[in-house]
Amino acid sequence: MTATIIDGKETAKEKRGQLAKEVEELKKQGVTPGLAVILIGDDPASLSYVRGKKKAAEAMGIRFQLDHFDASFSEQELLEVIDQYNNNDDFHGILVQLPLPDHISEQAVIERISPDKDVDGFHPLNVGKMLLGEDTFLPCTPAGIVELLRKTGIDLSGKEVVVVGRSNIVGKPVGQLLLNENATVTYCHSRTADLTAHTKKADILIVAVGKANFIKADQIKDGAVVIDVGVNRLETGKLAGDVAFDEAKEKASYITPVPGGVGPMTITMLAHNTVKSAKRSI
Ligand code: NDP
Repeated sequence: MTATIIDGKETAKEKRGQLAKEVEELKKQGVTPGLAVILIGDDPASLSYVRGKKKAAEAMGIRFQLDHFDASFSEQELLEVIDQYNNNDDFHGILVQLPLPDHISEQAVIERISPDKDVDGFHPLNVGKMLLGEDTFLPCTPAGIVELLRKTGIDLSGKEVVVVGRSNIVGKPVGQLLLNENATVTYCHSRTADLTAHTKKADILIVAVGKANFIKADQIKDGAVVIDVGVNRLETGKLAGDVAFDEAKEKASYITPVPGGVGPMTITMLAHNTVKSAKRSI
């Protein structure tokens, strides 16, 4: 079987078109959705992600403000900048680009952002609401993955989902969102005793590990849906996912490519959350 490619770029384009219309409607009501992004230091990957967010947000008509500070910026200074945006009605979303330098506590920063402007969906209050299945800002990458899965038309209810990776920003929340969709979810991580025994049972396999070509075809069930979250820069300069794409696509029924799969949806869901926040502000 050769898998159907799940085209994240195309799905993102459609959704961005809808969002642009919603932004126009909001502007007619006197509200321009605003997103403030705070970047500390010069990590090349972070710079590139922020550039991508700016380009996409502005194309949808969202006001985008980037505050870029030196790596020596203190935690206290950063918290003060967050407070200013918490109190600024022109901005409906605040995002602090992760990772942060070691001297700044990620958790303190996440918890300082008002839950009402937490468009990354990382604040404990919003994480709790997600867990309870309440309406809230959903974390962008996991929410984007659910949108991509919906696009395949596959009924998620009752499916065996295996998530490899248990980070707070991808692995844990994507499993939770799919549990909310009535899937049966298994989490695997670096201490999992027999990874392949789990991955081979997956109807839907989600891989968020951060190791290039980590999952091979012989670890995938015939006809599985494979979602590759990984973004790894190879020595050649090319990007690779966490799944060995060329062999996996001969085993899967659907698969996301890297690049062009999950990545474009992450940025799109950030815009979705910003627009949602702007609507709430009316
Ligand atoms: P983290 O490094 O936070 O988490 C990696 C996870 O992989 C951990 O839970 C770890 O387990 C697990 N892991 C590591 N080694 C193994 C192993 N040998 N077997 C099984 N599990 C293992 O990464 P993130 O979740 O932040 O990101 C994962 C990947 O997704 C990265 O490549 C990142 O760049 C990419 N990414 C892509 C996004 C997009 O928009 N496309 C957005 C966010 C991330 P343990 O907990 O036991 O250490």
